[in-house]
Amino acid sequence: MQPNWMPKKIYYEPASLDYELGRTLFEKYKTLPWIPIESHNRIETLRKSENSQFPELKQYLIIGVRKTHHYTPNYKSSDFLVPYTSSGCSAMCLYCYLVCNYNKCSYLRLFVNREQMLEKIERTAERAERELTFEIGSNSDLVLENTITHNLEWTIEQFAKSKRGRLTFPTKFDFVEPLLTLDHRRKTIARMSVNPPEIIRRVEFGTAPLDRRIAAVNRLCEAGYPVGLLIAPVILTGNWKELYAELFQTLAQSLSEKVKKEMFVEMILMTYSYVHRAINREAFPNAIDLYDAEQMTGRGRGKYCYRPGVRTQAEEFLRSEFAKYFDPAKILYIS
Ligand code: SF4
Repeated sequence: MQPNWMPKKIYYEPASLDYELGRTLFEKYKTLPWIPIESHNRIETLRKSENSQFPELKQYLIIGVRKTHHYTPNYKSSDFLVPYTSSGCSAMCLYCYLVCNYNKCSYLRLFVNREQMLEKIERTAERAERELTFEIGSNSDLVLENTITHNLEWTIEQFAKSKRGRLTFPTKFDFVEPLLTLDHRRKTIARMSVNPPEIIRRVEFGTAPLDRRIAAVNRLCEAGYPVGLLIAPVILTGNWKELYAELFQTLAQSLSEKVKKEMFVEMILMTYSYVHRAINREAFPNAIDLYDAEQMTGRGRGKYCYRPGVRTQAEEFLRSEFAKYFDPAKILYIS
């Protein structure tokens, strides 16, 4: 999706127009149909759509006010997963974890009350006994969202002024130009999610190609941001060993020396679900089937993950291929 993306129509909570961002969006998209809704969580007409309409739903934009601000403890690259300025996304990765939570309704929702959300993060950071890191991008892709709202730019500069804590977000997009000149004071960590080009092309519909993601993380690092790489999700399909071996080789050739020195790396094996299978079968009948009965097992509430033996072997392979080019200590975890 390009920065000048035009949704087909907009569903909005009328209260969102009481906020500056709501009014700005209203002005920006005033030629589109605006449909009032009671709650961004319950849009019955969309909820009842057929699975095959999923790509159509992804072209809608939902605007509301975020009411729940519950933080989830996290023990990986942050201390808390924080609901922030958007949830859902207009891209269509076949495994998107948001589909587990929102089903077909994992379209892009924007929340206009960013001041309230950032204030809570700042308050929590200041009261904590130690430095905390807040994951603000676990519900959407904030670099993509930023092309519509400029919220990420605003957040990075505002948070740079606060005394304590750090923010972090992952992305699969390369629209980082507006972030490069911000006064970020190294308080925001950018994590670029990468996968082999073939996986991106066949599975991560609507996201940036690998070379553009690599160029983007190089530029963010050059601009002084702390950076990480997310090799995620690792998908054990077809000739996956060849694909991931090539990926590490490409990363070794194309990442800047500064990124290689400063980065940390997370690797996450894919989780899939019954809901994904149902939607993808009808919405993308010609796409690759990511479900693999031989390699996968149930993981509660309709989810599937790779079997323990398969995981162990994959982990060994990933670690040894990675070590051919990079310091193994860069790997924060493989899960
Ligand atoms: S870019 Fe991220 S949020 Fe968007 S569809 Fe892909 S996995 Fe989901």
